[in-house]
Amino acid sequence: MSGRILVVDDLATNRLILKAKLSASYYNVLLAESGEEALEIAHRELPDMILLDVMMPGMDGYEVCRALKASAQTAHIPVVMVTAANQQEERIRGLDAGADDFLNKPINDMTLFARVRNLMRVKVMFDELKLRESTSQDLGLSDFIDTHDFATDYAGSVVLATGDTGLGGRWRDCITSRFPFDVRLADSGQTVLELAEIHPPDAFIITQHLGNGEDGLRLVSMLKANPATRQSAILLVIEDGKLETATKALDLGASDYICAPFDANEMAARLRSQMRRKKYSDRLRSNVRDSLRMAVIDPLTGLYNRRYATQHIHRIVERAGETGLPYAVLMMDLDRFKTVNDVHGHAAGDAVLKEFARRLQENLRGIDLVARLGGEEFLVVLPDTTARSAEIAAERLRKAIDETPIPIGGGKMLDITVSIGVAFGTAADRDPEKIIENADAALYKAKTTGRNRVSFFAEAA
Ligand code: GH3
Ligand code: MG
Ligand code: MG
Repeated sequence: MSGRILVVDDLATNRLILKAKLSASYYNVLLAESGEEALEIAHRELPDMILLDVMMPGMDGYEVCRALKASAQTAHIPVVMVTAANQQEERIRGLDAGADDFLNKPINDMTLFARVRNLMRVKVMFDELKLRESTSQDLGLSDFIDTHDFATDYAGSVVLATGDTGLGGRWRDCITSRFPFDVRLADSGQTVLELAEIHPPDAFIITQHLGNGEDGLRLVSMLKANPATRQSAILLVIEDGKLETATKALDLGASDYICAPFDANEMAARLRSQMRRKKYSDRLRSNVRDSLRMAVIDPLTGLYNRRYATQHIHRIVERAGETGLPYAVLMMDLDRFKTVNDVHGHAAGDAVLKEFARRLQENLRGIDLVARLGGEEFLVVLPDTTARSAEIAAERLRKAIDETPIPIGGGKMLDITVSIGVAFGTAADRDPEKIIENADAALYKAKTTGRNRVSFFAEAA
């Protein structure tokens, strides 16, 4: 995965060494020799990642990092700070400024590339989400406001897994004394998976060695393979002090690591930045999901709308072609519905439509497509359904409306009926529009022959 990396350093040699290393691995490298220049290039070029020297004359790395994170355009570009010495205090200052990670000079290649690969993956994920989000905005479906939020007072949940429960307890206290996070403790991979099953946390903190000689890295890879926990942040505690372990952890998908022994403040700061990233991606994700949902869901009844139904029916037809099983299409229209509005008002009409939709869903299977095409017209498609069972289903739906009056508020109940037209499709039928037309014709027959009935499309008719 190639990408563009901005290298910021006041010393030409440092810039050139990093440029040579990164270019050799096919990354595109941009260079800046001061904080001011870095900000200017970052805004103009929007690189995928920034390697930022801490000690620079004028604007130092912390200031640059804060400025990057404060600007909506650049806030999501991962920043790795390059520090002279392995100093905890500097790291905490950097994390406070919003840095994503640190590299010590002289830079170890293995650590550098593991970090770069890992952060590139994160960046690609964010870019993808933001792209979808902006599409939703272009379609007028979303009004998401992109703010990078430094708040730490949001709720979050953490599962902390360590072979040493005494130590785990102390870490938990250290976290809960700083943040309103809910922290659950586990001592084995099995317990972690069970806890995650009940409620996937925003973040995992996992030590390299778990109880009973279990391998924390194996757990990382399991959590990344599980769709329920794939999005959670993972902070791995490296206990053997080996860079190889850190590299492996990042390549397996851990979001960050910390080498033991460490200062509680550093763990807290790292956890906080992971949590912030997780919350941001959650917001983007749910926004994309909500706006996609809005595009295909009828707001009154919560059923799929016409747009979705006309797409989805093609899938059903395709599947029928594969399985060889027939399907049925039901067109429904409430009887004399205009009268409901005229006599009882529009709100009563809405209440009827909602209850009608609820009863449809209650009486159908999960695989059936139930959609509101508009007004008081509904479409149901029953995949893998023979003529006989479609008949039974249609009659069951008709009765579910006819036999139980619908409440419209104020203690009033209305007798409502529905007319249903049914048509069948076989594996050989490739044209869903034709089947829908047939169902429509059958519906017309039901209307003209007295309403409150099920009619079937007959080829000869
Ligand atoms: P028929 O038995 O022939 O189907 O008669 P009908 O009165 O049901 O049919 P018609 O198409 O004449 O009237 C449909 C009515 O549905 C007209 C419209 O006011 C009402 N309607 C359509 N959409 C909505 C809605 O979202 N809410 C409410 N309350 N009424 C709606
Ligand atoms: Mg009607
Ligand atoms: Mg109508």
